[in-house]
Amino acid sequence: MSMSPSLLKHSMATLDKLLQAAPVVIYATNVDWWQGQLHYACQSIEPLAGLDRDVLQAEPERWLALLTEETRYGALTRLQHAIDTGSERVSLNYTLQTSQGEWRHIQDDINLHRDESGKVTELVGSLIDVTKRQSLLGRFKELSDQLPGALYQCRLSTKGRLTFPLVSSGAKRLFGMSPATLVESAEEAIGRVHPEDIETLWRNIQRSALRLSVWRCEFRYRHPHGHQLWVSGHATPQQEAGGSVLWHGFCEDITLHKQAQLALIESERRYRFIIEQVSDLIMLFDSDGVCRFASPSVEAMLGYTAEDLYGRALIELLPPDDAPRVQRRLHEASCQGKALQLELRARHSQGHYVWLEISCSPYVSPQTNRYEWILGVVRDVTARKLRELKLHEMSTTDSLTGALNRRAFMDCIEAEIGAADAMPSRLSLVIFDIDNFKAINDTYGHAAGDLVLASLGDICRRTLRSHDIFGRIGGEEFALMLSGHALHEAAKLAERLRLEFEETQVEFYGQWLNFTVSFGIAERHDTETLEALMHRADMGLYAAKRGGRNRVHQALSDR
Ligand code: GH3
Ligand code: MG
Ligand code: MG
Repeated sequence: MSMSPSLLKHSMATLDKLLQAAPVVIYATNVDWWQGQLHYACQSIEPLAGLDRDVLQAEPERWLALLTEETRYGALTRLQHAIDTGSERVSLNYTLQTSQGEWRHIQDDINLHRDESGKVTELVGSLIDVTKRQSLLGRFKELSDQLPGALYQCRLSTKGRLTFPLVSSGAKRLFGMSPATLVESAEEAIGRVHPEDIETLWRNIQRSALRLSVWRCEFRYRHPHGHQLWVSGHATPQQEAGGSVLWHGFCEDITLHKQAQLALIESERRYRFIIEQVSDLIMLFDSDGVCRFASPSVEAMLGYTAEDLYGRALIELLPPDDAPRVQRRLHEASCQGKALQLELRARHSQGHYVWLEISCSPYVSPQTNRYEWILGVVRDVTARKLRELKLHEMSTTDSLTGALNRRAFMDCIEAEIGAADAMPSRLSLVIFDIDNFKAINDTYGHAAGDLVLASLGDICRRTLRSHDIFGRIGGEEFALMLSGHALHEAAKLAERLRLEFEETQVEFYGQWLNFTVSFGIAERHDTETLEALMHRADMGLYAAKRGGRNRVHQALSDR
C-alpha cells in the first residue's frame, strides 16, 4: 500500500517536528557533505548556525564557510579518509563562527550510508554544540600547563589493555611524548619504563583495579632524549559500566628528590658501617639525657642491647652517688656548647660496675641555637682504672695496717681543713701510740710487733666510719681525723678504742700478746693551722704517756 502524497507530507512534517525536539541537530547530505546537496536539516540548525534553514538548503556550502580555516581542512581530510577506507562512522570536531559572530565548537558524528558496492550514498550527521565542554577542556589545559607534572586519565579494559583517554600537556616534558601520541597509544610510553620496575608497576595497577584502591608507584623512565628519570605517580580508580576501570591521576618527575634520597641512604649506610665497626660505643642522648641511639658494641660493654637502652636515661645506669655530679657537668657543658670528657662508673646488666670514659660533644642546632642532643663516644676503661686504683691505693695505703700512709693522711686532712674553712664544721684530731712497743719487739721479735700493728689496724677500720680519716704517721704512731665530732665525742670514740685494744689478745705462735695504747685529742678551733692542731694533739699524747700510759688525754685549747 503506497501513501498518498498529502499523507506523506504530513508524516514528514511530524517527523521534522519531533527531530526539532532532539538535543542534537540531525542533517543528511550526499557524499559531498556540506559542499554538495543537503537532503535534510532539522529546524534547530538555525540557532546553531545563525542561518535560515532554507538558505542552507539552497547553499549548503554556507555551513562550510562558517568553519575556521584550520578546523575545516582537518574535518574534510578526516571525512575523506573515512569515505575512502570504508568506515561506517566518523566523528568530526570543528570550530565555527555563527553569522552573528559567536564562536561554537561542534562535534559532528556522521554515519556513512553505503550501497552494496560500498559506495557512499548518503551522510547522516548529528551536530552537538560542545562549546561548554570545549571551554572546560581549554581551562583544564590552561590549568594543567601550570602543573609540574602530567594529569591524565588511564583506562584498563576488561581485556587488560591500557589506554590514556586524556593526557595533559605536561606529558610532553615528562615523558617526551605529546598528549596526542599517548592518547593514540599507551604502548610506547609503557615500553619506556625501566625493565626492573615494569613488573611492580603492573602489579600495582592490577591491585588498584581489583581493590579500587589508590594507585601509587615510583618507577624509572627512559626518556626518548636518552636520559633516565624517576617518576612518581598516583591515581584514583573508578569502576566503569562495562567492567573497565578508569583512573584519574598525576605523574611527576622526582629524579632530584630521588637522587637526594639515594645519596642520603648511601651516606647513612656508610655511617652505620663505621659505627658498627668501631669498638668504641657510640651513643646519642637527647637534651634530657635519654638514650636515643646506641651502637651494637653496647652489648659487649654493658650487657644491654641497643633496644634495652633506648628511651632510658643515662643516670639510671650510674651509682646514685655519682648521678647528680655527672648530670650537672653534662648540663653545664651542653649549655656552653663545650665538649666534655667524663670518667664514670656505670652498672652492667649483670649488676657489677664498669668504668667508662666518655667523650661528650653537645650538638647545637643551627636553627634554634640550643643543644638538642649529646654524642657520646664511650670506651671501657675498667682494666686501666682498676690498675690505677690499685696503684693509688698502694701509694697511699700502708699495707700492714690498711691505714693511709703519712703523706696521704696529711694530704687528706689538709683538704679536710680547707673544706671546714669553706663551710665551718667541727674537726677533732686524735693521735695515738702503742705503749712500750719496743718491749714487744724486744721480747717476741719484730714479726710479733708487726702482728700487733696489723690487729690494731683491723680494729680501727672495723670501728671507724667510712669518712673518718685514719693514718699511720710514724712507726707505731697513728692518727684519726674525725669530722663533725666535738672534743668530747672524739674522746668517747678514743676511749672505746682504748678499751678494745686493752682487751685484745694477739696470738703469736701459741702465746698471747697484750698491748695498750695512749691517746691525745684536740679539737680544732677556727682558723687553727694544721701544724698547731697536730702539735696540741701531740701534747695530749705526751701528757697521756706521762700520766701512766693506756689513757686518753684531751688537749685543752691554748686560747
Ligand atoms: P712509748 O710507750 O714511749 O711509746 O715507748 P715505745 O717503746 O713504744 O717507744 P719507742 O719510740 O721507744 O719505740 C718504738 C719502736 O717501734 C721502735 C721501732 O723499732 C718499733 N717499730 C717501728 N716501726 C715498726 C714496725 O713496722 N714493726 C715493728 N715490729 N716495730 C716497729
Ligand atoms: Mg710507743
Ligand atoms: Mg712512738
